[in-house]
Amino acid sequence: MDRKRIVIIGNGIAAEKACAEALKEGKDAVSITVIGKEEYGPYPRPRLPEFLSGKIGKDVFTSKKFSDRKDITYIPGGAEDVDFQAKSVLLPGGKSIGYDSLVLCTGSVPNRLKIDGSDFDSIYSLRTIDDAEEIISNLSSTSSIVVIGAGLLGLEAALALKKRTGIAVTVVESAKSLLPRELDEESASFLENMLIGKGLSFKKGASASSYISKDGKSVSGVLFSDGSAVEASIVIEAIGVHPVFPFQVDGKIKIGRGIVINECAETSIEGVYAAGDAAEYDSRCPGLVSFALQSARVAGINAAGGNQKLILPPSSTFMKVDDISIYSLGKIKGGNVVEKRSEGNLERFFITEDGKVEGAIGVGKSVDMMKSLSFLGKPFSPEG
Ligand SMILES: Cc1cc2nc3c(=O)[nH]c(=O)nc-3n(C[C@H](O)[C@H](O)[C@H](O)COP(=O)(O)OP(=O)(O)OC[C@H]3O[C@@H](n4cnc5c(N)ncnc54)[C@H](O)[C@@H]3O)c2cc1C
Repeated sequence: MDRKRIVIIGNGIAAEKACAEALKEGKDAVSITVIGKEEYGPYPRPRLPEFLSGKIGKDVFTSKKFSDRKDITYIPGGAEDVDFQAKSVLLPGGKSIGYDSLVLCTGSVPNRLKIDGSDFDSIYSLRTIDDAEEIISNLSSTSSIVVIGAGLLGLEAALALKKRTGIAVTVVESAKSLLPRELDEESASFLENMLIGKGLSFKKGASASSYISKDGKSVSGVLFSDGSAVEASIVIEAIGVHPVFPFQVDGKIKIGRGIVINECAETSIEGVYAAGDAAEYDSRCPGLVSFALQSARVAGINAAGGNQKLILPPSSTFMKVDDISIYSLGKIKGGNVVEKRSEGNLERFFITEDGKVEGAIGVGKSVDMMKSLSFLGKPFSPEG
């Protein structure tokens, strides 16, 4: 009997998970080909800030490679396009490879500012090992760093660079507070004070309008729309990501912000699945490890002939910035708020009029997200 040909495009953690689940589900009845683009992979991008800070070495990222595996076929060089009608993936050099099921795990790439001076040297984003190595190689001649964006990635990168260099690091944020999607003003201000204690500076409510250069070649500062400026010999832009599509977007497959999938992780084309940062589910592109792994699990199993459904927990984000844990669960704006404070920790619970917990935020060294998650939808108890 011919084996079912599963082709996975991408070599990140979503591709790795989809591959493992498809092999587990399909066993000898499937053959798997992974098409990758980046030299390394799969590797844990969330650990890139630790590499940037000097805490871990490159070996953490390069030890695992699809190209070393014997149980799959690996094709480097990236997929150029997909012919959904002919069920084939087009490779560089005019070659192509046919599939029975296709899993799109091409991830996302950083958004970049389009302002005057964007083409000056020493303006970076942080997505890959190569990005991190390029930033590190430029640090010795750096006197000040600006990170644009006070989201998770911006804060992590800023703290990593502060630790490594000890020089001035300013985080710029256009919103009035840090992590505007995950935190309310009180918890954001609590976090900000902790980070100021670790040496970071902040400029909030500030919108970068252009980059400045003293020599016309390398960046030397950032100019803001209110006329103020901050010096910077390195700038890291951390202003979100957008999904990557490994095909010409020509209306054949449904695209929103990402590749739209249903609860079976299937796209608008039968037998074509998507997972991870490239996928959009329930009008959201979470861009988080938890979603990448859950969607890839379902995509991998279903691509191999199984029947799994995506069940996402209530909206939840957990992140760690250095030794500070941050979580944000459920609905975190409005309602009554009950606060718990202890040395270095803040937890805030959002309560409905009938006394049930509908959301929670925690910031600190020993806050407990799992405990708070168990409170959701239940009556709030002060000793909980
Ligand atoms: C610095 C940093 C810190 C982060 N911290 C956290 C965190 O603390 N918590 C959290 O939940 N998430 C975090 N994230 C996000 C998390 O890393 C992503 O959600 C996760 O990596 C998504 O995995 P993925 O496999 O979908 O995509 P990716 O990791 O982007 O992998 C996709 C791969 O596909 C390849 N590819 C693209 N196009 C093609 C093509 N045409 N052909 C073949 N291959 C292709 C790409 O080169 C890439 O290697 C962080 C991300 C970064 C960059």
